[in-house]
Amino acid sequence: MFQWPKRGGDADDQTLPFRDYGDLKGQVAVISGSTSGIGLAFARAAAAHGADVVLNGLGDPAEIERTRAELEASCGVRVRYHAADMTRGDEVADMVAYAKHQLGRLDILVNNAGIQHVEAVEKFPSDQWERIIAINLSSVFYATRAAIPIMKAQGRGRIINVASAHGLVASPFKSAYVAAKHGVLGFTKTVALEVAQDNITCNAICPGYVETPIVEKQIADQARTRGLSKEQVMKDVILGSQPTKKFVTTEQLAGMFLYLASDLGGSANGAHFSIDGGWTAQ
Ligand code: NAD
Repeated sequence: MFQWPKRGGDADDQTLPFRDYGDLKGQVAVISGSTSGIGLAFARAAAAHGADVVLNGLGDPAEIERTRAELEASCGVRVRYHAADMTRGDEVADMVAYAKHQLGRLDILVNNAGIQHVEAVEKFPSDQWERIIAINLSSVFYATRAAIPIMKAQGRGRIINVASAHGLVASPFKSAYVAAKHGVLGFTKTVALEVAQDNITCNAICPGYVETPIVEKQIADQARTRGLSKEQVMKDVILGSQPTKKFVTTEQLAGMFLYLASDLGGSANGAHFSIDGGWTAQ
């Protein structure tokens, strides 16, 4: 009869496997853009499963500190905050180095920070293009480049890139975002091949629409660009793409994060995981 091997390879052990595999105790996770939305949900999931966490992102410093202290106290792990601006490659690399210096390791890197701008391509402002490419794509490169030597030295690592359904398909008026997210998927596959024999994996999660500030902010812009009411945008544009007609939740995405971060996801490499209510099946 097939037996799930315990971490460490003890095939005689009959204990339930998932508790052991999903455990992130003693690991250190760096999650960019984790002051809100999907990144914050991943930080909560990582801490709840025993990992120390480096938070990052914009926001009110007092609120960020409250979140940091609350996570630390409720999960009994170490939680730090690094204020790297994802438009700055040097600061991104510093955030990765900070995890190693402050918490002693770096096991899990989640490249999650992202922004959006909705505008027809002929009117798309250059500064918005540059900003989206910097935050949504180039920061993924800078963080990954800094993380791989640390992960190689440890003999294990997980790189998880939060791409999007827009890494696979396009929507009008999102040229920079769609270009960046397609780039993230190409980068993910390339890195996966380079580190495949180092016990490091690199994968991407492709969410559909999730009700977070990045979506809330674009409803008014979509209404203006398309000449629709906000209600029509919500029904026909946002949830119109998703066959389920429901938002994906941050908890559902955190489940995929835990799979990829733990030993269960050890053979997933260079892959993208669509969690989009069937959007990209169409
Ligand atoms: P969000 O706006 O709640 O979170 C974005 C995070 O990025 C925040 O913590 C913000 O502070 C941070 N950030 C933005 N600019 C930054 C900068 N210059 N430096 C450092 N941090 C910065 O949105 P979210 O929905 O949680 O988005 C997270 C990721 O998920 C993004 O990459 C986004 O493209 C992707 N995504 C979101 C959806 C969705 O529908 N919400 C769908 C697919 C993919």
